[in-house]
Amino acid sequence: GGFGRNAELVHRYAPQYDNAVFVCGDGNVGDGLAMARKLGADMRDMIYIKGTYGKHPVDTLNHHSCLAVYKGAIAVNENGKRFVDESVSYKLLGDAVMAQPYHTSFQIFDQPIFDSGDDRVRILDFSRRMEEGLIIKADTLQGLAQQIEVPYDALKTTVDRYNNCCDRGEDEEFGRKKLVHNHGELRRIETGPFYAYPSTAAVFGTYCGLRVDANLRVLDVFGDVIEGLYAAGEVIGGFHGGAYMTGSALGKAVVLGRVAARGAANN
Ligand SMILES: Cc1cc2nc3c(=O)[nH]c(=O)nc-3n(C[C@H](O)[C@H](O)[C@H](O)COP(=O)(O)OP(=O)(O)OC[C@H]3O[C@@H](n4cnc5c(N)ncnc54)[C@H](O)[C@@H]3O)c2cc1C
Repeated sequence: GGFGRNAELVHRYAPQYDNAVFVCGDGNVGDGLAMARKLGADMRDMIYIKGTYGKHPVDTLNHHSCLAVYKGAIAVNENGKRFVDESVSYKLLGDAVMAQPYHTSFQIFDQPIFDSGDDRVRILDFSRRMEEGLIIKADTLQGLAQQIEVPYDALKTTVDRYNNCCDRGEDEEFGRKKLVHNHGELRRIETGPFYAYPSTAAVFGTYCGLRVDANLRVLDVFGDVIEGLYAAGEVIGGFHGGAYMTGSALGKAVVLGRVAARGAANN
């Protein structure tokens, strides 16, 4: 396992994620890492902890994120300003939100974007989040700004500017061209009621750890094999690098776990 439940280790390697929400198993305190380190193990990718954007900062009902940005919302910080191209990977959005004041933001959207949600898809289940009281709603943008305590003038300027970007098809500030990755045309945010979803980043796992070779043998800081020590899954580094790809953490645990177990059994 990883070390998402060990605040001291997180702070040592990736202090930019100190204030994220951690949704890891209770046992993920970094024991495997510590045991291997005592034997001189090397580590890889330690700064590349990534959080997933769209986690409500205080919601305990949903582990999943809500990603209205991928349907056309913009992300604004506490000052009412955008800070990122919202179409990029939710892991990069996670990095971006952690650099904002209070490590948080609001996804701002309007009724047509709300209506384009899909309750069969957890990250797009806007109605459900509304029923759970997690989405804030107001008839006007001004009313929304008041409720979320963001300066209205700044929010209005941001939305007006973004709507102009939609018309021109060019976001000169952050380079957003599509709703998500290469898909979906930008949508103006203009038809009330208006909505806000408070959003920070959630860390589901630490994508870094022990250095291993292709046979999952743990290597020491000189690159030599530590005899008899194998590792797989979240405790190893060197697999994801700086760009975690969705789904690869489970795959890494299952597939490499099998390889490591075979190696250990044959040793
Ligand atoms: C909410 C959530 C959503 C996720 N979603 C995805 C996803 O969509 N796709 C994806 O690929 N990955 C996802 N992950 C990550 C993925 O689940 C993990 O990377 C994967 O389970 C790691 O497997 P593992 O066997 O290496 O570690 P773990 O599953 O963490 O197992 C390690 C076990 O070792 C135990 N342990 C720790 N220390 C000790 C000790 N000293 N003595 C005895 N036992 C100990 C722990 O309690 C734990 O049971 C998600 C994780 C979470 C928490």
